[in-house]
Amino acid sequence: MDKNTYKLLTPGPLTTTVPVKEQMLVDRCTWDDDYKQMTQYIRSELLRLAHAKADYTTILMQGSGTFGVEAVFSSVIRNEDKVLIAVNGAYSKRMTAICHYHHIPYVTIETKYDSIPDAGDIEKVLQKDGSITHIAMVHSETTTGILNDIASVGALATAYHKKFIVDAMSSFGGVDIDVPAVGITYLISSANKCIQGVPGFSFIIARTDDLEQTRGTARSLSLDIYDQWQIMERDNGKWRFTSPTHVVAAFAQALKELAAEGGIMVRNARYVRINRMLRDGMEILGFHAYIDRDIQGPIITTFLYPQNRVFDFRDMYLYLKARGYVIYPGKLTEQDTFRLGNIGEIYKADVKNILHIFADYMKEGQLI
Ligand SMILES: *Cc1c(COP(=O)(O)O)cnc(C)c1O
Repeated sequence: MDKNTYKLLTPGPLTTTVPVKEQMLVDRCTWDDDYKQMTQYIRSELLRLAHAKADYTTILMQGSGTFGVEAVFSSVIRNEDKVLIAVNGAYSKRMTAICHYHHIPYVTIETKYDSIPDAGDIEKVLQKDGSITHIAMVHSETTTGILNDIASVGALATAYHKKFIVDAMSSFGGVDIDVPAVGITYLISSANKCIQGVPGFSFIIARTDDLEQTRGTARSLSLDIYDQWQIMERDNGKWRFTSPTHVVAAFAQALKELAAEGGIMVRNARYVRINRMLRDGMEILGFHAYIDRDIQGPIITTFLYPQNRVFDFRDMYLYLKARGYVIYPGKLTEQDTFRLGNIGEIYKADVKNILHIFADYMKEGQLI
């Protein structure tokens, strides 16, 4: 095997299909009608996947997922507003960093990284602090693999008339989300996660009425989602500034492949199946998962370093890479962990291979 070829067990970038990659062999013009139609197809298909109707709209934004989160925070929360952020991982923590940069008023409710934010606790904060206008949380916390309960928090947001911002980066397309029913005002995801495209832009699904009211709020020109939206609407799919044309074409193909696979429910079933196989197989080899089974999401699993053994992540990483798979380091500060993502073009046969390689490594590798 070519030593530069491997499959990604990382949750974005991830392993994509050949037809998705082939779309990037064509150079396209940003103001051409065919290209703008591709953007419009993506926008309407995203709304369909979100179960959203005419009262929602989509904005595509250049950059990685974090650019999308920062675009929403800096474009929709005014200086006189206050956002309550439910923190239980590095990505929700990052939302607080975004608030610092833009001087956005916020409060946090912190939960241990191996447990989900509790709607009852959030409700108490809402009752005490009437100045809160927005609630923000991450759906699938990629730090640990935990799947947070957006439905209960969304119901609170609706009951208390708060705007609800959800980072669904590593879940949208892989976990079914009825955006209007959950009560989401702004959902953010990106091209290179469960839709299985390549990296280069993020997208926002927004409730139109609320977005309408944010005109003039943006603190950044490039990340102004209102302005980006206006231009996309007025000019039938035209992006402000240069768009990642190759990435957009690859994403349009990835959306078609999601539909061909049978849609989100079928893809979700594959992810769940593969995730369980990996988790069970690794457990047998002595690698214990950080998150309890009942709150484990289907995207990525965090494993603790094996106990009572000499263990070197880098050594294991290189062993696996030489055999065709690349894994992900941990992101927890207080515990040594590594992560295995299972989204992208990963199937049962891959899991069997991976588990064999891990088993061989435990026998032959540097583990003593
Ligand atoms: C991937 C991801 C992001 C965005 O990360 P980028 O590196 O900017 O693409 C944000 N939140 C979550 C939960 C993610 O999984």
